[in-house]
Amino acid sequence: MVDDGRGLRFAIIGAGMAGILSAIKLQEAGLTDFTVYEKADRVGGTWRENTYPGLSCDVPSHLYSYSFAPTSDWSHRYSAGDEIQAYFERVAHEHDITGGIRFGDEVISCRFVDGRWSIETASGHRDEVDVVIAATGVLHHPHIPDFDGVEDFEGSMFHSSRWDHDVKLDGARVGIIGTGSTAVQMTSALVNRAGRLSLFQRTAQWIMPAENPPYSDDEKAEFRANPEQLAELRTNLTQMFDIFANAIVDADSPEMKMIAEMCRDNLESNVRDPELREALRPDYQAACKRLIVSPDFYDAIQQSNAELVTGAIDRVEATGVRTRDGRLHELDVLVLATGFKTDAFMRPMTVTGRDGETLAQAWAARPNAYMSISIPGFPNFFMLNGPNGPVGNFSLIEVAELQFGYIMQLLEPLRSGASREVTATRDAMKEHEAARVQAVEKTVWVTGCHSWYLDDRGIPATWPWSFDRFRSEMQAPHAAAFEYR
Ligand SMILES: Cc1cc2nc3c(=O)[nH]c(=O)nc-3n(C[C@H](O)[C@H](O)[C@H](O)COP(=O)(O)OP(=O)(O)OC[C@H]3O[C@@H](n4cnc5c(N)ncnc54)[C@H](O)[C@@H]3O)c2cc1C
Repeated sequence: MVDDGRGLRFAIIGAGMAGILSAIKLQEAGLTDFTVYEKADRVGGTWRENTYPGLSCDVPSHLYSYSFAPTSDWSHRYSAGDEIQAYFERVAHEHDITGGIRFGDEVISCRFVDGRWSIETASGHRDEVDVVIAATGVLHHPHIPDFDGVEDFEGSMFHSSRWDHDVKLDGARVGIIGTGSTAVQMTSALVNRAGRLSLFQRTAQWIMPAENPPYSDDEKAEFRANPEQLAELRTNLTQMFDIFANAIVDADSPEMKMIAEMCRDNLESNVRDPELREALRPDYQAACKRLIVSPDFYDAIQQSNAELVTGAIDRVEATGVRTRDGRLHELDVLVLATGFKTDAFMRPMTVTGRDGETLAQAWAARPNAYMSISIPGFPNFFMLNGPNGPVGNFSLIEVAELQFGYIMQLLEPLRSGASREVTATRDAMKEHEAARVQAVEKTVWVTGCHSWYLDDRGIPATWPWSFDRFRSEMQAPHAAAFEYR
């Protein structure tokens, strides 16, 4: 138990999964003096922004939900994006946190002045808080490649996370650039609607087969009647995903070999045409890039109206995309499933820490944070799902929940009035980073592929140890790694 020696005021930036979680947990802890700043007009983050056909989570829904808000209502093992968005809206509403959210107001600067954070928003609103929680997301700022001629395109063109629902898809000639999870989900969802579908592939991807059965009404009723059954299901799913999460950090592990075999079997057994099969065969180890999970992508790409385009893109023209082999692929709709700027984090917001150091200076080389949470020199400023944290085919909800628990422990001396400031030390950051960079050498991410996990040096910007180790690190901060004032 902590004595509330001093009432702390908080700003939470972002009302996606992590911001909602923070507001609920602060409220539960009796720390009710907070404002959530959200630049959009609704909660949900990723699940509000992405509305493309076929969007789903590739972590089972009973795992991709808050530990404190299980629900018996998920329709499928891997539920669709709109259902996930509805879940976040409902949880936010049921925990009565929406009243504390300032919608439509983007935080543009945070400055640490005389022991407190001075916040400024795009609307000119100002706030002074003791603690900032940056829950601004990772897959948030669209990455738009700079193709020659894009301005000439006469059809409809948009990024996958900015879907234009006014554009007619039925019977249209649709082009999708990219082969990540988004492009794969979209291909399966659009192939039966598009007149013609062209998937522009720069890099082939391993596809993990997965069934996506619906939960029957009886099963849902059973979950409702027996919450312990629901809890058991979650435990089983956690154990299953732990196997994967622990294996990716050891490229030679038997589990990695098993995953590689499952992906290879999927390709061999389900793609009939040998030429297409070879075009779809990656030349790197499975899970080197984020593993794609799909029950039906190979079926989709083999439909007669679908084409896998492997020629490199030369330019975009008025009527379509021209590849370097000189072919023009005529299109009505061009979707950029080209991912996100994964090193932006809370930027373009400016952050100025103690002694006037800016985030631009602290991150001049690349983004970094101790345990992906605390940046030396930026006291009482914490990130959820910040740089170099765990990423992969598991639930980022659990990551954020564990990180939030860790932050609450860091704040105990501030709550009791024993200290006013806490931040990771520069030495702790340096040591942590050196150990991290050494540990990534064993991971599957360095086995010969290019992926969004890699930083500008080609070093994975990820948590390189097992997920079990992450859980254990999050149990209690190392006192020596933090400086209190
Ligand atoms: C297509 C897609 C599929 C995914 N599938 C999975 C999956 O299967 N499993 C998984 O674990 N994860 C998945 N993810 C990752 C997903 O992003 C996270 O699981 C989770 O939703 C992140 O939540 P968040 O709150 O950290 O960030 P976000 O959901 O990105 O929310 C950040 C919020 O902060 C707001 N914001 C940002 N900057 C400011 C500012 N300066 N001022 C005010 N507001 C601001 C944004 O508007 C946004 O609402 C997927 C992501 C994408 C894009």
